[in-house]
Amino acid sequence: MDARTTIPYGRQSISKDDIQAVVNVLRSDWLTQGPVVPAFENALAASCKIKYAVAVNSATSALHIACLALGVGPGDYVWTTPNTFVASANCARYCGANIDFVDIDPVTMNISVTDLASRLAAAEKNGKLPKVIIPVHFAGLPCDMKAIHALSKKYGFHIIEDASHAIGAKYRDQPIGNGHFSDITVFSFHPVKIITTAEGGAAVTNNEALAARMALLRSHGITRDSSAFQNDYLGPWQYEQHELGFNYRLTDLQAALGISQLQRINQFVTRRNTLADQYDALLANLPLKTPYRPADQLSACHLYVIRLDDQRIHRQVFETLRAEGILVNLHYTPVHLQPYYRQLGFAPGDFPQAEHHANCAISLPVYPDMCDDDIDRVVTALKWAIEQHQPTKELEHAHIS
Ligand SMILES: *Cc1c(COP(=O)(O)O)cnc(C)c1O
Repeated sequence: MDARTTIPYGRQSISKDDIQAVVNVLRSDWLTQGPVVPAFENALAASCKIKYAVAVNSATSALHIACLALGVGPGDYVWTTPNTFVASANCARYCGANIDFVDIDPVTMNISVTDLASRLAAAEKNGKLPKVIIPVHFAGLPCDMKAIHALSKKYGFHIIEDASHAIGAKYRDQPIGNGHFSDITVFSFHPVKIITTAEGGAAVTNNEALAARMALLRSHGITRDSSAFQNDYLGPWQYEQHELGFNYRLTDLQAALGISQLQRINQFVTRRNTLADQYDALLANLPLKTPYRPADQLSACHLYVIRLDDQRIHRQVFETLRAEGILVNLHYTPVHLQPYYRQLGFAPGDFPQAEHHANCAISLPVYPDMCDDDIDRVVTALKWAIEQHQPTKELEHAHIS
């Protein structure tokens, strides 16, 4: 491989079949709102073993209509993890609700169920229980959904799983998105995620009313189903707007890519896990922690996030890798530290585990089309970067004497 080429942290894998599927739609009668979106929704629902899928133009849109369908509004509380993309929290703000965060578990990097339980007990006392909790399956590793679901029964909140990283993952031998432990699950089909539709997302549920409400909100709040009309039936031109919705529709072009990509989902997840196994072996003796992937769960391995033992060299290692063309990334700057959320009252120190994570985490490249040479290049550069910047023994001794 050419030494000057860069290795991104993630990227799509597009096959000839994917291209043909999109071209076929371009030659058809419909570019949007044709037969392919519902076909994609059916394929998606089948792959997750759930009844209803509502495809939209992004996971951000899916999170928004999921919150609205569950009745989130001004005065309500929504809780999520600070170790996520801002969209997991923004959806609550779109609805005028208050957001709060629950710190992460330092092993899984997912929402801490212990913290969640104690925060819920406190919230019950001061009458500020959340209406919705949004667990995020960070890097593709499923959260402890059984425990979170049990808490939802005890305290009466709804659950939206943000599975933007986790389509194709398995929890207790069942696909993420099957709805056993939540009301709604949201997926992203952005090109860095597991499967792509370019931009795109979906919300899946077993609840017919929630699915219908989300389908309405996705398209202006408009229905063309005459049996649902509130005004008198006047003729075949008629449609009715029943609430204030949005244009969050996916196109047939995108849905065709989605159907084609979905056929390779298991292949993608297997390949990602193989790459993670290779990293695990090659990085075993370095001063860092490799990601937690328990044997009884299948992570989708959307990200491969290492954590350096010595956070003092974090920035330098990061910069050295970038300079070498290894386009590592940070997942995530804790959401509560973003200026928008600081202005709502959050401050450094609020969620120490998520903050510590951000001080030592580096996402190494992982995507299906990565080859062994790419892995070697990443590992060699990482070893070199750590050696370069590690405070040497001699220097430490010099300092002491
Ligand atoms: C990517 C991502 C989103 C947003 O996805 P889009 O499809 O780009 O809107 C939301 N949550 C998480 C955790 C993500 O990683």
